[in-house]
Amino acid sequence: MNVGNIKDTDRRCFDLTTPYRIFCFTVESEQLKDQWVEAMRTAIGEALSNSEVAERIWAEPSNGCCADCGAASPDWASINLCVVVCKCCAGEHRGLGPSISKIRSLKMDRKVWTEDLIQLFLLLGNERVNGFWAANVPPSEALAPSSCSRDRRCFVSHKYRQGKYRKYHPLYGNQKELNNALCINVQCSDVLETLSLVFCGADVNCPTGMADCPSTLSLATAHGQPLQAEFLSRNLNTELPRSEVGGAMETVHYMPSPSVSYNGFLFKTGSMARAITERKGREEFSRRWCTLNDGSFSYYESDKNSNPNGTLKATEIMCLAVSPPEKHGYDHTFELYSDSDRLYLFGTDDPESHKEWVKSIAKTFIPANAEPLLRLGFERIGRLKYKDGLNLQTPKVGWFALVDSTLYAYLDNSQGEEIHLRKLLELSIQNDNEVLVLVERGR
Ligand SMILES: [Zn+2]
Repeated sequence: MNVGNIKDTDRRCFDLTTPYRIFCFTVESEQLKDQWVEAMRTAIGEALSNSEVAERIWAEPSNGCCADCGAASPDWASINLCVVVCKCCAGEHRGLGPSISKIRSLKMDRKVWTEDLIQLFLLLGNERVNGFWAANVPPSEALAPSSCSRDRRCFVSHKYRQGKYRKYHPLYGNQKELNNALCINVQCSDVLETLSLVFCGADVNCPTGMADCPSTLSLATAHGQPLQAEFLSRNLNTELPRSEVGGAMETVHYMPSPSVSYNGFLFKTGSMARAITERKGREEFSRRWCTLNDGSFSYYESDKNSNPNGTLKATEIMCLAVSPPEKHGYDHTFELYSDSDRLYLFGTDDPESHKEWVKSIAKTFIPANAEPLLRLGFERIGRLKYKDGLNLQTPKVGWFALVDSTLYAYLDNSQGEEIHLRKLLELSIQNDNEVLVLVERGR
């Protein structure tokens, strides 16, 4: 049944068309008109709405609260990100554009809610999906139902446009392996794993290499996985989360030394997306059992746990920075930067253990050709992409260590060289903090 239709006709006029009559209204200001139009459209929408789909979706208990702010009885959903959200958060999702989030109403967009889509939302549910999208939300950034629209916009953009809080898949950054894992996984019923693969970079449109099922979608269908197929078909053109800083990192080929192993307790803060400028008090750290083994650094709730809370492979570590003593609540701290733009802060009161951790972690990720860097008393050590005066076309990966005002570098298999920062003619930051330009005299 069509209750009515509202049409904007002029700056101060609008029409209400009902099955029986057309009413033309004129109001005193454009703003007032917008308010009337909005209110009437909402009223018509509600009159047309139907709670059947909503009631079914809410049968999964965690779908009864907004996935972003926690508001009760959310009646909107992003059908590709697979979250059920409230009206206010849905507005912010719409602001991201349909290439990121496809927002539909549970009550009004009845046609879109096929049985498979409903089943997909029951299988996943806000809680499990947030285990991926919101795995690392700092309490200070979390939304509440009463959050203002600015905070809401910021949070929704961080969460889905940048993927800032997501749980990184262990294969993150390795496109070939991600695609391969996706092709295998769509053949089973674990849609949550597919979601994690896709939103960590697996390409939904990657070729499967099979003549009879050339796409992941056809592969899922052929293996009798309609919910996998439903999820994939909603994400054929989705723009994947991208952090604002940095582009794709080229694969770095080198073998970390497998022999390094070390373990013990360290104190750790939540991982961060930005450099730490403020002091972190002792209360912000939690005690974690940490291990360094087979080229991976892992941290656990306790030494009794067998599943790590997180793991950083040596190849993911971009930089290790040693903070000056007493910079934070623990006497000795160091920071690890991962290539997925996460930063981890660890601390201890024991100087010996600190020294041993720094040495062992550096040894794990610094390749053999840059090994002399390990013998330096560095404040910071790691890899950077660089271009130099002779070759400005393709960036290469170099290894650097900073000691006082000297930057020691191992570039492209060359012998080590030293850049004396005090002698620089110029030091500038370009492209929104992404590029640091050093100009030496005579170069
Ligand atoms: Zn909400």
